Amino acid sequence: MQTDCIILGGGAAGLTAAAALAERGLQVTVVEKLDRVGKKLLATGNGRCNLSNRNMDAAQYGCSAAFVERVYANAPPAEVLSFLENLGLMTLEEEGRLYPRSMQASAVLDVLRMACSRGQVTLLTGEEVTDLRPSRRGGWSVALSRGQGLFAPVVLCALGGSAAPSLGTDGSGVRLMSALRHTATPCVPALVQLQSRHPALRSLKGIRVQAMLTLHVDSAPVATECGELLFTDYGLSGVCVFQLSRAASRALAQKRSVAVHVHLLPEVPSLRSWLDARIARHPDEPCAQLMTGVLHRLLAHAVLEDAGIAPEQTCGTLSDAVRCALCNTLSSWSFPVTGTQGFAQAQVTAGGIVTDEIDPETMASRLYDGLYLAGEVIDVDGPCGGYNLHFAFASALVAARAMAAQITGQKGQS
Ligand SMILES: Cc1cc2nc3c(=O)[nH]c(=O)nc-3n(C[C@H](O)[C@H](O)[C@H](O)COP(=O)(O)OP(=O)(O)OC[C@H]3O[C@@H](n4cnc5c(N)ncnc54)[C@H](O)[C@@H]3O)c2cc1C
Repeated sequence: MQTDCIILGGGAAGLTAAAALAERGLQVTVVEKLDRVGKKLLATGNGRCNLSNRNMDAAQYGCSAAFVERVYANAPPAEVLSFLENLGLMTLEEEGRLYPRSMQASAVLDVLRMACSRGQVTLLTGEEVTDLRPSRRGGWSVALSRGQGLFAPVVLCALGGSAAPSLGTDGSGVRLMSALRHTATPCVPALVQLQSRHPALRSLKGIRVQAMLTLHVDSAPVATECGELLFTDYGLSGVCVFQLSRAASRALAQKRSVAVHVHLLPEVPSLRSWLDARIARHPDEPCAQLMTGVLHRLLAHAVLEDAGIAPEQTCGTLSDAVRCALCNTLSSWSFPVTGTQGFAQAQVTAGGIVTDEIDPETMASRLYDGLYLAGEVIDVDGPCGGYNLHFAFASALVAARAMAAQITGQKGQS
């Protein structure tokens, strides 16, 4: 099959690159192992696709920040958004998060697919890339599970990471790149629920509470997040837990001890005075009623139990030490973390092909000519809020520009 370039993976990065290359009049072949392209895109943002963030900041990408900063200098956030707008997508903002105006993830996939169909893009679906190697005559040979294989002078690896394997991503991008002697950092699940065996969880399943969470690694606080916490039978969930999970997952992989400390009343400035005043108002009532009107009944019960207080004990008889213990549970209730929920539940992969081996000006491999990388296959992950899709879009646009220049340059020489 005659093609100017092959894009491995029909996800956010692959389709963006295909659309950008098609706009430049190039022949593109996208290989996607699922029966349709962009299935993961449809699942993003609970079906609404949080595609970017008004406060796009490279510092949000942790240890890959310097690399991302260079990528975003080459495809600034405004350029990424105007690329999508020029494809026909209208967006709206909710507390900094950007969504399609229709609040349907399908809108993003539709405009990308339409841009592909306006140009010379072939979507090879139901085809799994099984091997990639530089050809002796120059260019790249791609082996496919069902087809005869493909050849092109230029290839983009946009195969994603290991998160959400049911949506096509099983780590094959990292495996194929590693087989070419690219280096990968260990891949762990991120933006994922945390597991804990805390005995209180049995009774707290399904309870939601606004809280402040602090992640402790080897007993030292490393990150804090505020928001809705959801107790589950296996551990802790909610957006603030997802945000902490990146650091937790990496620490667990290093066999370090991890715990989440939960502050149930972060808005109360002096917890001890607040508690004393509450007890002083009704000193003869049982402790079971101490948190009535403040916490969910089952949560209040579990807090008392953790502080060693019997529900039938009279409030006014609580000693100074027991009041301290209660304040400690309310403000720093410790849940030892035993693991994460794994790639099947994770939204993102932390880890991937090291950024040192990729040129952020072009997204070209520093090891091979004509090989480019974009999206989650690279060791870049951001927090919730549109940061991961934005990186996929931006890195794909940088790669597409450089690929187009290489292809047209080679055509000019021949
Ligand atoms: C449930 C969920 C919700 C999310 N919500 C958001 C959100 O709202 N905002 C946000 O910023 N991020 C979100 N993310 C993360 C975001 O979707 C990813 O970071 C982003 O899709 C990565 O883009 P990518 O193109 O690199 O990889 P993907 O989008 O994962 O695309 C890779 C493609 O390659 C294909 N593929 C893999 N291996 C092969 C192979 N061997 N041969 C052929 N094809 C192959 C896969 O089927 C897939 O289609 C979410 C993720 C999940 C799972």
